[in-house]
Amino acid sequence: MIPVKSTSTTEAEPARSQLLREGRSWQRELLEAVTDVDELLRLVALDPSDIRTAVEPSADFPLRVPRPYIARMGRGDPDDPLLRQVLPTSRETEPAIGYGFDPLGEAAAVVDAGILRKYDGRALVIATGSCAVHCRYCFRRHFPYADHRQDRRFESIAALRRDSTIREVILSGGDPLMLTDAHLARLLAELGSIDHVARIRIHTRVPVVIPQRVTPALTETLANLPQRVVVVLHFNHPNEIDRDCATSLTGLRRFTLLNQSVLLRGVNDDAHTLVELSERLFGAGLLPYYLHMPDAVAGTAHFDVSQRRAVALHRQIQARLPGYLVPRLVREVPGGNAKELVIDDG
Ligand SMILES: *Cc1c(COP(=O)(O)O)cnc(C)c1O
Ligand code: SF4
Repeated sequence: MIPVKSTSTTEAEPARSQLLREGRSWQRELLEAVTDVDELLRLVALDPSDIRTAVEPSADFPLRVPRPYIARMGRGDPDDPLLRQVLPTSRETEPAIGYGFDPLGEAAAVVDAGILRKYDGRALVIATGSCAVHCRYCFRRHFPYADHRQDRRFESIAALRRDSTIREVILSGGDPLMLTDAHLARLLAELGSIDHVARIRIHTRVPVVIPQRVTPALTETLANLPQRVVVVLHFNHPNEIDRDCATSLTGLRRFTLLNQSVLLRGVNDDAHTLVELSERLFGAGLLPYYLHMPDAVAGTAHFDVSQRRAVALHRQIQARLPGYLVPRLVREVPGGNAKELVIDDG
C-alpha cells in the first residue's frame, strides 16, 4: 500500500459546504475498503449459500472493494455484474490450458525498473503496484510489482529523458491514481519537463470505484502540464456510471477522456449492456476506446468470451450506435507491434 497522507494543501480552510459535498475523502474510502468476503455479502444482502460457485478468499490476490462501488451493486442479486467483477470464487483455482502467469510477455518488455516499452513512440510507466479494487479478471494479477515500483526519486524516468523517440508516456500500474496528489504532482513535474514527450496518458480505475478521487488538486496538476493529457478510465458496465460518479468526472472533462473495457462473460457480454455502456459513457463525457478480449491469465478462464461471440456482439453494437461510440475490439498478442483488432476470420 501507498502511505496515505492528508492532501490538505490549501491554506484556507475548505468551505463547509464543499466538505459536505465531498463527503468522505478518497483516502478514507481506500482505508475502509471491504476486504472480508462475508462483510461484502452482508452489504449486498446475500448469504454465502446464494452464490452458486464457492466463494474463496484468495491469499495472493485478496478481496478488496471500496464502499462507494458496493453502493452501486444490486441487493440480493448473486449475478450482479459489479459483484461478479470482485468476488473471488473457487473457479479461479481451476487449472486451464493455455492460461499462464505472464501471457503478454510483459516481463520481456521491461526496459528499466518500472518501465515497459512494447510499442513505438510510447512508454508505459508502472507508477505504483497497488489498486483500489481487486478485479478478478485482472491480467496483471501475477505481475511482480514489487520489483518494478518507481523509487521516490524517479530514477528510471531518466531513461525516458534520454530516448527522444518517446512521444507519449502512459502512467499505469497497478493504478497511478493510488498515489497521493502530492506524489503524483512530483512524478508529473518530472515527465512534464521532458521536451520530446507530447502526451501524458493516465490509465485508471480508481475514479470508477471511488469517484471522490477526482480532486481539484488532481485536475489542477493535470491542467498545468505543458503536454496534452489523456485520461483513460476503466468502466466495464453501465451500472458503474451512476449520477454521482458522472458528476465527479466533470472535473476531468477538460482533458481527452476515453474508456477501455474488458469483455467479460457474465458481466457485459450482451449487446444491450454494451450499447448502454457506450451511451452512459458518452453521457459522462467519455468516448469508448477499447473493448479488450480477456487475456489468458491464470485464474480468469471463467470470464472468457469466445472470439466468435465477441465479434458477433461487436457487430450488433455497431449496428445500433454511431461509429464514435463503438469501441475497438482488441486483444493483445505477445510480441505484436500494436494491440490486434479482433475480426471475424472464421
Ligand atoms: C496497451 C499498451 C500501450 C498502449 O497501447 P495503445 O494502443 O496506444 O493504447 C503501451 N504500452 C504497453 C506496454 C501496453 O500494454
Ligand atoms: S484496477 Fe486494473 S490493474 Fe488493478 S486489479 Fe483491477 S484490472 Fe487489475
